[in-house]
Amino acid sequence: MATVSIIKATYSNPEIETLLAPLGGMEQFVTKDEKVLLKVNLLSAKQPEKAVTTHPEFVRAVAKVVRKAGGEPYIGDSPAGTFSKRGLTKAYKRSGLESLAKEEEISLNLNTSVKKVDIHEGKRLQRSPICEFALNADKVIALPKLKTHSFQYMTLACKIMYGIVPGLIKAKYHAQFPRKVSFADMMLDILTIVKPQLYIMDGIIGMQGQGPASGDPVKMGLILASTDCVALDISVCKILGIEPVGLPVLKRAKVRGLWPESIDYPIYRPEDVAYKGFKLPNTADHLLTGKKPPRKSPVIMDNCIACGDCESICPKEAVTVKGQMAEIAYSKCIRCFCCHEVCPEDAIELRSLKLN
Ligand code: SF4
Ligand code: SF4
Repeated sequence: MATVSIIKATYSNPEIETLLAPLGGMEQFVTKDEKVLLKVNLLSAKQPEKAVTTHPEFVRAVAKVVRKAGGEPYIGDSPAGTFSKRGLTKAYKRSGLESLAKEEEISLNLNTSVKKVDIHEGKRLQRSPICEFALNADKVIALPKLKTHSFQYMTLACKIMYGIVPGLIKAKYHAQFPRKVSFADMMLDILTIVKPQLYIMDGIIGMQGQGPASGDPVKMGLILASTDCVALDISVCKILGIEPVGLPVLKRAKVRGLWPESIDYPIYRPEDVAYKGFKLPNTADHLLTGKKPPRKSPVIMDNCIACGDCESICPKEAVTVKGQMAEIAYSKCIRCFCCHEVCPEDAIELRSLKLN
């Protein structure tokens, strides 16, 4: 049986010890002098109030509890785009993690080395480049953000470790696994390389709508913890009123025998904290209506500043910046929405288009 602990919380006082008490406390997971990776969601260089990244006050609260248990926390992720010190520094600064790290004297990973790793349990991938910062940890505590995702519908605990795939390789896998279900299967392969000992989810301010980067922050006031990422994601679906197997990653988790026999809720049950009216991305309307939505395509809007980030990340070379605007060649586009994810100006919308 899996256990999912759920409590109500605010950023001024996220009671991590109360949350972890039913799981045996942090001492169950961390022992003295262990290097503990806090694997945050650092998708891009966005301010904490945008709800794109794991909130720094939430990370601070977890780091303090890790220290109390004797461990030495460090913070790491590989944002979208090129995995570089420059990119990491910018993302740490904008997300508020740089200030937190200074105040609490916590290391921020700046090691951009990568190692090729065999995936013995892989169904879709047998080998992949992986960021060394994740391989060097004694223990991993994953700190996902509760967010929507235009391609995978939600990005929760099962998806958090995809961030240990370095920068642009992530986009390359979109070209290799263009279908939602095969991509989800590949993410479960990556999860077998470095399995977090514990997942603690930041659902205090989540993201609804066009996530993972352009959605709307939504106050949910919840934090959740489990050792089982599938049980945790099922619980979030129940809170939001979504059928869990509607998420590609949970569908594949079920097929792969990762579904928990039962879930114990020692504090709040999902129905106690149900959230009504949560907005999914417009690519996932069918999860609420049961009707298959028309296919969405990325559309460049007038506020494009021609920065070229979408051109750099597109795994199919479908985007070209011409003059003052980016342009998309729809004949090449596989609708992975990587461009939508990285656009710093939210200048890419997902719309139903009539294409020849
Ligand atoms: S659409 Fe966004 S990412 Fe692409 S060039 Fe314009 S501003 Fe940059
Ligand atoms: S244009 Fe955007 S959605 Fe289409 S393949 Fe490129 S990154 Fe993916």
